[in-house]
Amino acid sequence: MCVLGESRLEGYHGLAYRKLVEAGVNVGDTVEVSFGDESFVGRLMPRVESDDDSVVTIKLPNGYNIGLSVVDASVRLVSPAGGLHQQPPVEEAVGFGAGEYVALISTGGTIASRVEYETGAVRPALRASDLMSLVPELEGISRLKTQVLMSILSEDMKPAYWERIARAVYSELEAGAAGVVVAHGTDTMGYTAAALSFALRGVDRPIVLVGSQRSSDRPSSDAYTNLLCAVKFAKESFRPGVYVCMHASTSDPTCAVIPGVKVRKMHTSRRDAFKAVNTRPVAFVDRDKLVFLDESSKGYVVGGGVVFKPGFSDKAALIEYYPGFSLDILNWLAEKGYLGVVLAGTGLGHVSSELVDGIARLRRSGFLIYMTSQCLYGRVNMNVYTTGRRLLAAGVVPLGDMLPETAYVKLSWALANYPLEEVDGVMRSNLVGELSARSVYSGEWT
Ligand code: GLU
Repeated sequence: MCVLGESRLEGYHGLAYRKLVEAGVNVGDTVEVSFGDESFVGRLMPRVESDDDSVVTIKLPNGYNIGLSVVDASVRLVSPAGGLHQQPPVEEAVGFGAGEYVALISTGGTIASRVEYETGAVRPALRASDLMSLVPELEGISRLKTQVLMSILSEDMKPAYWERIARAVYSELEAGAAGVVVAHGTDTMGYTAAALSFALRGVDRPIVLVGSQRSSDRPSSDAYTNLLCAVKFAKESFRPGVYVCMHASTSDPTCAVIPGVKVRKMHTSRRDAFKAVNTRPVAFVDRDKLVFLDESSKGYVVGGGVVFKPGFSDKAALIEYYPGFSLDILNWLAEKGYLGVVLAGTGLGHVSSELVDGIARLRRSGFLIYMTSQCLYGRVNMNVYTTGRRLLAAGVVPLGDMLPETAYVKLSWALANYPLEEVDGVMRSNLVGELSARSVYSGEWT
């Protein structure tokens, strides 16, 4: 059966539509757009920005989309999509053997959505057929089983949803997926990556979060490369653990695969926004190769056994300290029933010395307080200055080089899965690589 069997010219109007119909071209077909002696060959993409009805969008063989005006161009069908797609639509495919396929779970975000500009509505675009039209090369890498678990922007993510995602990932692993790819909005992808890292500790296969900074239907979207690399890593790396796979640089079609507890979105819009903090990526991937930076840890953890603890509490908080910060904020959290807070303090792990007595009182009342650094790179050391020493004496627990967000997710997880008196011990332990004994200079803060 052909994936793109239905005839369609999604989003095309006016001149572009007429020329495509005349040429017998559908979305997904390979076309040639010629301007005299210059011509472009690529796959016809759906068009969503309907402001200029003389433009067609094609995906070039290098993966980038370009918009071409057809006012002075001729359009020719090179090959129909059907000839290139031998497999059944993956959402309908049955009978995949264990390890033969990658499960792709969509949660929303730019990568999984198409914006209908006329209505402003966003709809999930992770049906197998949509994916295959976006990234036909996926067929050469792996069979896919797709599901749209939720369709939200990642700023709307919350601890209860982390649990839903963890359960969905776990059941795909139980069902025999070689690896799981989770398509996610980029804004809070690092939080979900940390959440899955704790919820599925000891997992024996790759779980890869992927997103895009520019939507898949825009020229120069990163969705295509990121998805291709994520599926390739999930199928071919045999590397256990939870990772984020996103563009490694602005121009290169290579993705960096970064541990889910040490990754951060460091730029609002660049395609290489995701950086490994206090560590290095584990691998670089492109369509042809997968290069590990750390050969020794490649391979399944035989008999490791996943410790599945998917619960997350909504009684944890994350607060960044700033000059002028009032103790009222921490007191309010405790009064409202929050059980603990991760502070992103200044420098080596400080807050104003005026807060120390109040913090000691809160700790004595059972409220948990952890210290990370808003510097992000490096680690807290609360033994260097008097303020740090006094905070330690007040019961604040330092968290080394743990990222503030990772510490917050870990606290939410620990509160849901351990008795309160064990939470400090859990927070201080390195469970999944979140707390390194020694920080690695990753040189990535420019
Ligand atoms: N802010 C939205 C989100 O994080 C869209 C941006 C994106 O997907 O990168 O889900």
